[in-house]
Amino acid sequence: MVSVQNIKKSFDNNIVLQDINLTVNKSEVVVIMGPSGSGKSTLLRCITFLEEPDTGIIKLGENEVIAGFKPNKKRKSSIRELRQNTGFVFQQFNLFPHKTALENVMEGPIVIKKMDRQEAKEKAKVLLNKVGLGDRMDHYPAKLSGGQQQRVAIARALSMEPMVMLYDEPTSALDPELVREVLLVMKELAKEGMTMVVVTHEMGFAKDVADRVIFMDDGMIVEEGSSDQIFNRPREERTKRFLRDVS
Ligand code: ATP
Ligand code: MG
Repeated sequence: MVSVQNIKKSFDNNIVLQDINLTVNKSEVVVIMGPSGSGKSTLLRCITFLEEPDTGIIKLGENEVIAGFKPNKKRKSSIRELRQNTGFVFQQFNLFPHKTALENVMEGPIVIKKMDRQEAKEKAKVLLNKVGLGDRMDHYPAKLSGGQQQRVAIARALSMEPMVMLYDEPTSALDPELVREVLLVMKELAKEGMTMVVVTHEMGFAKDVADRVIFMDDGMIVEEGSSDQIFNRPREERTKRFLRDVS
């Protein structure tokens, strides 16, 4: 489904991703953990070419984009396709402040997919119901809690019917009592078979939902395995140290 091959990325002299290889299968949930600055966000951004890797290949379904080439028409359209098939949920919810919850979710299908307005509206309603916001559709983001805003952001990402959902610390900006409602929605989507890559420090979520946990440090995948293996029997010293520090 998603394949990341030999991705390298530097900012000036700072090597941020050293040589990342990662394959995520259909319906698989991969959780990425690691200390601040280890390259987790950069990796997610490279998967969608929000950040262009220096070298490497990203494949999503049949679409393959090789890093490090000059832009031309075909390449731009591949990158566009990559982004359209990827749902990205950020720590800061990034909703359009002047649009209601419903309008936020309708926007992508109308503007990008040229979907008929009425159809987009019906679809958006279904999605907002799904994330438990059926009674908040006409609210503006400022009138929603952080947890509600993040659930709108999830519905908005889903509206594009992505092949994979990428989450970058989706609950880190939330008050503790709002974390659960967002994780529950994500868990529900995982159960339905959504392919997901989730950067999070929520161990409970990783234990419950992850098919695979990846521990990154210093721009490298240090260790990967089941949540049971990573949390209960980590092999690498760096993983052990990280787990000691966060627990
Ligand atoms: P955190 O847990 O704090 O979110 P992270 O694992 O997501 O950390 P990244 O945000 O990927 O880490 O950053 C990895 C390294 O890349 C850091 O040293 C950071 O300063 C650097 N970096 C990231 N984005 C840029 C950029 N646009 N320009 C220069 N350096 C960057
Ligand atoms: Mg980050």
